[in-house]
Amino acid sequence: MKLKHLLFTVAIFLIAIGFINAQPVNENGKLSVKGTFLVNEKGNAIVLRGVSYGWHNWWPRFYNKESVKWLADDWKCTVVRAAMGVGPRGSYTDKKEWSKEKIEAVVNGAIESGIYVIIDWHSHEIKQEEAVAFFAEMAEKYGKNPNVIYEIFNEPVNDSWEKVKNYSIAVIKAIREKDPDNIILVGSPHWDQDIHLVADAPITGYTNLMYTVHFYAATHGKELRDRSDYALKKGIPIFVSESAGMKADGNSAIDYQSWNTWIDWMEANKISWISWSIADKNETCSMLKVTAKDTGNWKTEDLKESGIKTREKLREFGNKNSNLQLIIAMHKSSIDIFKRRYLLRNSCGNLFYILSVLSIYCRIIK
Ligand code: MG
Repeated sequence: MKLKHLLFTVAIFLIAIGFINAQPVNENGKLSVKGTFLVNEKGNAIVLRGVSYGWHNWWPRFYNKESVKWLADDWKCTVVRAAMGVGPRGSYTDKKEWSKEKIEAVVNGAIESGIYVIIDWHSHEIKQEEAVAFFAEMAEKYGKNPNVIYEIFNEPVNDSWEKVKNYSIAVIKAIREKDPDNIILVGSPHWDQDIHLVADAPITGYTNLMYTVHFYAATHGKELRDRSDYALKKGIPIFVSESAGMKADGNSAIDYQSWNTWIDWMEANKISWISWSIADKNETCSMLKVTAKDTGNWKTEDLKESGIKTREKLREFGNKNSNLQLIIAMHKSSIDIFKRRYLLRNSCGNLFYILSVLSIYCRIIK
């Protein structure tokens, strides 16, 4: 192969690798909602997948940009959720500035790593005045940033949909005064289970809203999916901002069959999903052991079973996407080269390219 042709064959790979290293936010840009789908800047439906940090007031040590980078690079998260605890002692309720610092460390880390980030008001009760003030501040600060998604009520427990809806409208109004378009996630009543009540009386007059459903696969199954299907049929966009494989108490064996059924259902409906949680508590749903460093770089022996399995699932989807992107990128690069007529005169380059594409197809099929 002549040097010139070799250089152009190498160029295809360099351009292609440039594509696959594209960060999720560079690739998808500003998000919006179209029908029941979360869509990227080009209007194509996308699925975000990632993990939630545990309550910031109990596991603040993981709230730093290095751990975000690790979750983006090694776990292939395209989104992380910063769960700002509101209510318990030591949470936002009595440590406002410190709490904002923790949340913003994750938000700024996600911006640096080019992934999406959810600012989650992790409360079980309505605290409207504080929520309005907090989200107005966040919207002012991050509203122009495509990375940021607001989740305004983690899991309502005892409040009716009517109450949650009124609260949500007040918070949405405050956000929209500063930020007209970033995605807002609205909580569903009764631990994010009663999506059917939301579907019968959704919020009107605002765009880019989605509603949250949470599941723990050893507790929740077909009944919650049926409710969610009912909502989807009525045009309600759903985001699963918290989920995992064990029972809802977070501390039983993982039901893999049920968990996989949920993942298949979410993927089939292009619903984004997040696993709970980055924490080192002695319970099944906390994904890390106490040996895990604050700043990522976790080895398999630092992960608990749910961490190992969640990472495997996220990497499986991340790698599948990378392979598809590589093929697309190689096609784009080679068309460009073809246009310049170099490869037409270079059968070695063609053969090299075809073999490379075949090998990637084999990896995907495997
Ligand atoms: Mg905006």
